[in-house]
Amino acid sequence: MSPGYRGRFAPSPTGPLHAGSLVAALASWLDARAHGGRWLVRIEDIDTPRCVPGADATILQQLATCGLLPDEPPTWQSRRGDLYQAALDALVARGAAYPCGCSRKDIEQALAAQGRPRIRGEEAPYPGTCRTGLHGKPARAWRLRVADGMVAWTDRRLGAQQQDVARAVGDFVLRRADGLWAYQLAVVVDDDAQGITHVVRGEDLADNTPRQLLLQRALGLAAPSYLHTPLVLGADGEKLSKQNGALALDLSDPLRTLHAAASVLGLPAHAGPIGDAVASWVQAWPFLQSAGD
Ligand code: GLU
Repeated sequence: MSPGYRGRFAPSPTGPLHAGSLVAALASWLDARAHGGRWLVRIEDIDTPRCVPGADATILQQLATCGLLPDEPPTWQSRRGDLYQAALDALVARGAAYPCGCSRKDIEQALAAQGRPRIRGEEAPYPGTCRTGLHGKPARAWRLRVADGMVAWTDRRLGAQQQDVARAVGDFVLRRADGLWAYQLAVVVDDDAQGITHVVRGEDLADNTPRQLLLQRALGLAAPSYLHTPLVLGADGEKLSKQNGALALDLSDPLRTLHAAASVLGLPAHAGPIGDAVASWVQAWPFLQSAGD
């Protein structure tokens, strides 16, 4: 038991839940229950061009159909801009964040000039052009100043992890050129503001963790523990995502759908009803963390 445990599921409402997102939802719920903690749902609707109207209500309904009910009223990131602004102001005041006037093209040209051509399919690391000032350009975005060096952490499933954020990503965006808040800033501010102690989410998000650890350090916040869950792969071996057209969940038989998610987590089949099945999975949850781990 971890009485102070607070976990969350944080879907982006870009469409209904699919098989992959249900695995993350079920895992975060089971982890909270196995630790005797609380489980929250946060709708991450800051990337407004990608949000689908009504998808938030659909997701909450899908979770309820599966018996995954949050212990507190859900929150919406689109209503929390003041918190993100306060965090950015604090970072700017400490000299940890700076305005950037670079367009995507400016970044590619600067990287090429440094002999670091863009790697195909990968986001170009920021070459640091505006670290020393805007060079007469208007400010477009805000970035975090990232120090050189390896960021290491221990994932509860993946074990020891590390990333050289300065090399892999560079000074990353906190507020985008279109004025929208970046996921990294919003997630760190909200995990702290909501007292989240344990983050459980899909493995596709694992490489965001070092950026979030750096932001927590820059803001003087405690880091939660992290557990990244296995991904559901499509027939083509690629991870299922809303972007590559993953189908919405068939919830005509919620127990069957939950079984599929549970089996991805290595949990045994259970002959229902739903309440008994999830109770058996809480008992069998392999990621129980004793206090002090
Ligand atoms: N909103 C993110 C997503 O749906 C997840 C964020 C997180 O769990 O940290 O991909």
